[in-house]
Amino acid sequence: RQGVVVITGASSGLGLAAAKALAETGKWHVVMACRDFLKAATAAKAAGMAAGSYTIMHLDLASLDSVRQFVENFRRADMPLDSLVCNAAIYRPTARQPTFTADGYEMSVGVNHLGHFLLARLLMDDLKKSDYPSRRLIILGSITGNTNTLAGNVPPKAGLGDLRGLAGGLRGQNGSAMIDGAESFDGAKAYKDSKICNMLTMQEFHRRFHEETGITFASLYPGCIATTGLFREHIPLFRLLFPPFQRFVTKGFVSEAESGKRLAQVVSDPSLTKSGVYWSWNKDSASFENQLSQEASDPEKARKLWDISEKLVGIV
Ligand code: NDP
Repeated sequence: RQGVVVITGASSGLGLAAAKALAETGKWHVVMACRDFLKAATAAKAAGMAAGSYTIMHLDLASLDSVRQFVENFRRADMPLDSLVCNAAIYRPTARQPTFTADGYEMSVGVNHLGHFLLARLLMDDLKKSDYPSRRLIILGSITGNTNTLAGNVPPKAGLGDLRGLAGGLRGQNGSAMIDGAESFDGAKAYKDSKICNMLTMQEFHRRFHEETGITFASLYPGCIATTGLFREHIPLFRLLFPPFQRFVTKGFVSEAESGKRLAQVVSDPSLTKSGVYWSWNKDSASFENQLSQEASDPEKARKLWDISEKLVGIV
C-alpha cells in the first residue's frame, strides 16, 4: 500500500517541496498540515501536485487546542500514519518584542517546539499502530542552533541555559520570554533556541521509544534554502543579499527543490533507517551523519526539556 506522511507547514518552502517530491513518487499520500487552507491549496496546485495525491488538513501550531483538534480530525479521516515530519517554523530575526501563542507562550518556541512536541507525542500512538515497514518521526533541525559550526557562531548564539525561562512559562510579562531566562527578548536567538529544542527532542524520543517501537527518529539540516518564506520578516537588504551570499560566498545555498528531495530521502530512503541521527549533505549532495554541538546533544538537558515541555502542553 501507499505510505501516509503528515508534513507540517507544507504550504511553502521546504515542506511544500518535500510534499511534492514524495507525492510524485506515487508511493506516498501526503497530508499537508497547514494553518492557512487556501494558501496550501493554491501552493499545491501551483507546484503541480496531482489531485488525489494529497489531503490538506488545518493545523495551527500556535494553539494547543488546534493541535489536539488536528489529531482528532486526522484519526476521523481513517488513514494510517506511517511518517510524521515536524517541519513548520517561524523566524522573527528582527523582533525586539515577543508575541505569544493562544496559550500564552513566546511564539517562536511555542510554534517550532511546543506545538510540535504535543503533536508528536499524541501521534506516537498512531505511528505505533502502523504496519508500514519503516515508520519515521522527523523533526527539522538547523545548523544555526549548533555552536560547533561557523554559522552556529554568528551572534546571537543559541543557548538554553538552565531552562529557567521555559520552566517559568515563557510568558514575558511576569518572567522571561526567553528559554534561558534572559530579561530582554531576542527574536533571532529565540528561533535558534527553538531549533536546539527540536534536535534535543528528537534524541529524547529516540532514547525513550526507539527500542520498544522500532520507529526511526531523525533530524536534519537540509542546507541553506535562502529563498524560502522563513526570511520574510528580515530587513529587505538582507533578503536581497542573503541568497547570492549563500550561493557564491559560503556555497551553502540549496534550492527549494533540492532541499525537498533531501527531506523526502529522510522520509523514505531505505538506507536512512538509522535512529537518533542528525543528517546533513555534503557538496555532492550525499547524505552523512553529522555531529551535533555539545548542548544540542546533552542528554540531561533533553530530559529536563522533555519534562518541562510536558507540563507546558498539558501532558502529565
Ligand atoms: P517557510 O517559511 O517557507 O515555511 C514554513 C512553514 O511553516 C510555512 O508553511 C508556514 O505556514 C508554516 N507555519 C508557520 N507558523 C505556523 C503555525 N503557527 N502553524 C502551522 N504552520 C505554520 O520556511 P522553510 O521552508 O525555510 O522552513 C521549513 C523548516 O526548515 C523549518 O523547520 C526551518 O527551521 C528549517 N530550516 C530552514 C532552513 C532555510 O535555510 N530555509 C535552514 C535550516 C532549517 P504559512 O505558509 O501559512 O506561513
